[in-house]
Amino acid sequence: MMSEQKKQPSMGQMLKNFASEVVEYAKAGAPHVSEKQYNYRLKTCNECPSLKRASMRCGECGCMIEHKAKWATSNCPSKKWPQVIIGKDGKKVKVGRPAAKKWRRDKKDNTKTGDKT
Ligand code: SF4
Repeated sequence: MMSEQKKQPSMGQMLKNFASEVVEYAKAGAPHVSEKQYNYRLKTCNECPSLKRASMRCGECGCMIEHKAKWATSNCPSKKWPQVIIGKDGKKVKVGRPAAKKWRRDKKDNTKTGDKT
């Protein structure tokens, strides 16, 4: 029987994707999104069927969402995040722990209701 669930990228492909994201981020001077943009990205991922909740990774690229969502150079592989213009809204700001904590709490709440991926 064929599964309709999309296969997660291989470990090698995930490492390649993440390394590529890190290089772009470093080359641009490590710009972060604003707190508001970060929260929006986490909220979008939390509602996305591609999110692998057990590992908090994107099922499309395999990247760790809590990190990737901070980087202004990163994009959603499914184009669900609004584009960030670096040097305008993508100025470097410190992303506080409360946003990530809230996201983890929301993730747990969704898991309790059986919303697993
Ligand atoms: S990065 Fe995009 S595709 Fe991946 S989990 Fe987030 S919204 Fe979904």
